[in-house]
Amino acid sequence: MRHQCRAGPPRKPFEHLPAVAAILVLFASAPSWGETAALTLTEVAAGVFVHGGVHEEASPANNDAIANIGFVLGDDAVAVIDPGGSAREGRELRAAIRGRTDRPIRYVILTHVHPDHIFGAAAFRDDKPDFVGHAKLAGALAQRGGYYLRRLREALGDGAEGSEIVTPTSLVSTRLDLDLGGRHLMLRALGPAHTDNDLTIMDDKTRTLWLSDLLFVDRLPVVDGSLLGWLRELDELTAIAANWAVPGHGPAAVRWPAAAGPERRYLETLARETRAAIKAGTSIAGAATQVGQSERGRWLLFDEFHPRNVTASYKELEWE
Ligand SMILES: [Zn+2]
Repeated sequence: MRHQCRAGPPRKPFEHLPAVAAILVLFASAPSWGETAALTLTEVAAGVFVHGGVHEEASPANNDAIANIGFVLGDDAVAVIDPGGSAREGRELRAAIRGRTDRPIRYVILTHVHPDHIFGAAAFRDDKPDFVGHAKLAGALAQRGGYYLRRLREALGDGAEGSEIVTPTSLVSTRLDLDLGGRHLMLRALGPAHTDNDLTIMDDKTRTLWLSDLLFVDRLPVVDGSLLGWLRELDELTAIAANWAVPGHGPAAVRWPAAAGPERRYLETLARETRAAIKAGTSIAGAATQVGQSERGRWLLFDEFHPRNVTASYKELEWE
């Protein structure tokens, strides 16, 4: 399922055209051999483009295009925000950018270590951009990158070809401002939350706050950094006056901070009920089947990710 920020049912392309004309149009727009198809992008605010990921795990059918990714267009340059989950998705994002502008792709921002956000980076190497990441991203890639690459190859087979670890060339330890010409992006490095290497990006021109996986909408949040840290960061993030937020998974853009509600409820429930389970002497395995069951049915991929969230939270909270 793809989400777009605009309401209403999707229009069927070509529905008013005679069948023969529709076939000709389809034929004309299909990429020829060796040409890369362009990703479909939604312009969520002026010059801010997002491709919505599908709510699935990586597979050959989806090229690991499961996260929201995109780019911001300035008067002088382009900044990619997450190059995608595979080199193929990165190439398709690049084709979509080149379909709109020939301005240089000066920055490729890697919001955090998770593979569905960053394995498209190799597709931008020839543009010679700065690959920008959190100060802890390089260490996280050194620790997990090989494992993530093996998993990607298992999941995609030949579809993983060209995907590789790209080491960041610019590191953010607190804050970094990028000038794209006529607009600035303000990058902030957060403490442990979704992971221990999360970046947020604020576009000053449209007040769009790109949160990547600090914000999950519809799909269950994944705790891979610190549950309590994430709740603390969420307090600060929801105090930011933004028009729009771009979640890592969910619609291409959502109203901020209104859209933080369900994620906060889930994370608070996880903390409260995990603490109660620890206090009651429930084992970690027992907690995984008891904690947070009121959230079942409210999230996509709940069964795939909730038990491991409980396990991670238990390990974090048992030493309080
Ligand atoms: Zn993530």
